[in-house]
Amino acid sequence: MQKYDYIIAGGGLAGLSLAYYMNQTVLREKSILIIDQDTKTKNDRTWCFWEKDNQNPFDAIVHRKWNKVYFHGTNFSDALDLGDYSYKWLKGIDFYNFVKLDLLTNPNIKFVNERIERLKDTPIGGFVITTENQYLGSYVFDSIKPLKLDLEDCHNMLQHFKGWEIVTDKPVFDTTCPTMMDYRVEQRGTGVRFMYVLPESTTRAMVEYTVFSDKLLSPTEYDAELHKYLKRFLKIENFTIEHEEFGVIPMTDEPTPNHAGEHIVRIGTSGGYVKASTGYAFQRTQRFTQQLVKDLVTLGKPSLPKKNFKKRFKDWLDSTLLNVLLKNRALGKDVFTALYQKNPTPRLFAFLDEDTTIFEDFRIMSTVPLWAFTKGALDALRKRF
Ligand SMILES: Cc1cc2nc3c(=O)[nH]c(=O)nc-3n(C[C@H](O)[C@H](O)[C@H](O)COP(=O)(O)OP(=O)(O)OC[C@H]3O[C@@H](n4cnc5c(N)ncnc54)[C@H](O)[C@@H]3O)c2cc1C
Repeated sequence: MQKYDYIIAGGGLAGLSLAYYMNQTVLREKSILIIDQDTKTKNDRTWCFWEKDNQNPFDAIVHRKWNKVYFHGTNFSDALDLGDYSYKWLKGIDFYNFVKLDLLTNPNIKFVNERIERLKDTPIGGFVITTENQYLGSYVFDSIKPLKLDLEDCHNMLQHFKGWEIVTDKPVFDTTCPTMMDYRVEQRGTGVRFMYVLPESTTRAMVEYTVFSDKLLSPTEYDAELHKYLKRFLKIENFTIEHEEFGVIPMTDEPTPNHAGEHIVRIGTSGGYVKASTGYAFQRTQRFTQQLVKDLVTLGKPSLPKKNFKKRFKDWLDSTLLNVLLKNRALGKDVFTALYQKNPTPRLFAFLDEDTTIFEDFRIMSTVPLWAFTKGALDALRKRF
């Protein structure tokens, strides 16, 4: 059996971010094994996120960034000023290549392309069984454990989307401003539906149909909605599809124990890095893996996440939004319109990043449909706490 100081199970966003930050510190002297069943040589996802500049090392490979975004809601359309923030688009393949290139300079870091069958905590370390080998790590960082997503006392939604990277025969896209949310599309059933548009040039853009709901749609429904949107709102008749993206992100308040055992630490989606009320994970993954590396350097072990009053309060707000959407207590597009119309976008971004005080949170929550959120908040409290 091969032994390592650290084994990273899953070399996707969380696994590679963790390895990257380890490689910038004294931890680069440790033996580190990254196991992934995939070679990560395809552009398998698009990451969008907001951030102030120079917060993480990936600014150099950001594909596009903007300082304003279009928002189209219920009787409200505007180009929102992002203040100190930028809205950034990073291609999965650029991230994988950038990080792998950095890690390749370190002979202590090894990649294997194997499928993990089992992870087990033992008194002497985290034990990993793959289709080909067995490994033991002082710590195993697990980003492959699937969430349950069916716990009765939790709110479980899915964020599912299909995107087309299209090329048009005429210039139609405004390259200075992406559309972050367009709720003018038909709203049906539980949850909320919107489009977003990321322009690459005046004739090329990623157009994505996104749904927050408890069930996926049939494949033809995503296509039909994309066709309708291109024709009705973007007035595009002729285009070619160069690339397609489909994804499902869990939006859940399911508890995710970071320590799955003495030697197994969950990271990424498995570790609760996805913000339950938005599905955004990129920027949180950078924060959480940076903190994990700091703990490993200073304490020699991962610290338990702090579940203080502020954190519990913010989790409760996430649960409340999910409750409002799942129980159809208010129209999702009205909720998001109220938030973006009545609050400066930088304040909203800080709120969603959990960087605001509880006083500021109350101020923001006073702008959403009050009765729906009061009922949702009480129900979430009863269910979850
Ligand atoms: C298409 C798509 C688009 C997204 N867009 C955004 C966005 O715009 N902004 C945002 O903030 N978030 C976005 N997300 C959400 C989130 O940022 C990503 O899902 C992110 O990749 C999660 O990181 P992770 O490390 O948990 O999982 P992943 O990046 O999926 O990494 C998990 C890795 O584990 C490997 N693996 C799984 N099982 C095994 C096994 N048994 N054995 C070996 N290897 C295994 C996989 O191959 C994968 O490489 C998106 C998600 C998807 C799916």
